[in-house]
Amino acid sequence: MTTVFAVANQKGGVGKTTSSVNLAASLAATRKKVLLVDIDPQGNATTGSGVDKFDTDYTIYDVLCDEVPTEQAIVATPEDSGFDLITANGDLTAAEVQLLDMKSREFRLRNALARIRDRYDYILIDCPPSLNMLTVNALTAADSVIVPIQCEYYALEGLTALMNTIEKIRTVLNPKLHIGGLLRTMYDPRNSLSNDVSNQLISHFGDKVYRTIIPRNVRLAEAPSHGAPVITYDPKSRGAVSYLALAGEILRREQALKNQPAAAS
Ligand code: ADP
Ligand code: MG
Repeated sequence: MTTVFAVANQKGGVGKTTSSVNLAASLAATRKKVLLVDIDPQGNATTGSGVDKFDTDYTIYDVLCDEVPTEQAIVATPEDSGFDLITANGDLTAAEVQLLDMKSREFRLRNALARIRDRYDYILIDCPPSLNMLTVNALTAADSVIVPIQCEYYALEGLTALMNTIEKIRTVLNPKLHIGGLLRTMYDPRNSLSNDVSNQLISHFGDKVYRTIIPRNVRLAEAPSHGAPVITYDPKSRGAVSYLALAGEILRREQALKNQPAAAS
């Protein structure tokens, strides 16, 4: 059974891309088959995975807007990373508008992934910093949402809008969508604000907050310029260890969900 995760938060710079790339690599390191789908026109997940965003035959734009078969847009990342990728670049900016006029506009990504999802254990979708039609497509295609939250000023701002959007999509477009977890990123224990934000998250969201905390770690910020996930760039760094721990926590949560007796519906 494949699980599709959307990594979403409409705030920029909260660690969506860092989490997508490093979680993809960490899940792949546990021998899972993983596909990372970049749906941000900035293409940072593509570059950070070591792939030139201007040098692939097809990108996610071609899949969403030009009916290119999904499998033709899949590329391998450099061997050490061990996961597959569908790339994005600036072309995708046009898709935000073009999608609005298309048939089944919210379901384009879901339908595209349906063709290939059985090949993977996990599919991760790195969302743009907005609640636009691309993010709606990601949430409609996903089983579960990972919400990275930077433990800094204004971290909780916008969270209500995101939760409302997720709820609306669950009701109208994708009944199986659920919150996988809220992920504390860029955490600095010496900063009392980090602790405040973390405590607030736990009091609001309880078990929905992943136990694993991603620390602020310079290796995580450096790795993309080397085109590698941190577990390749510096496997012993705190950043690498924390994303491997997150992968472990996610696998355990998934297992626990699967072991639950099916809910009466
Ligand atoms: P988003 O995709 O949400 O916009 P990014 O993952 O691109 O956010 O992160 C924003 C910036 O912060 C990037 O420069 C990234 O390298 C850096 N960064 C992300 N997570 C960490 C971390 N845990 N420690 C240090 N720097 C980080
Ligand atoms: Mg990003």
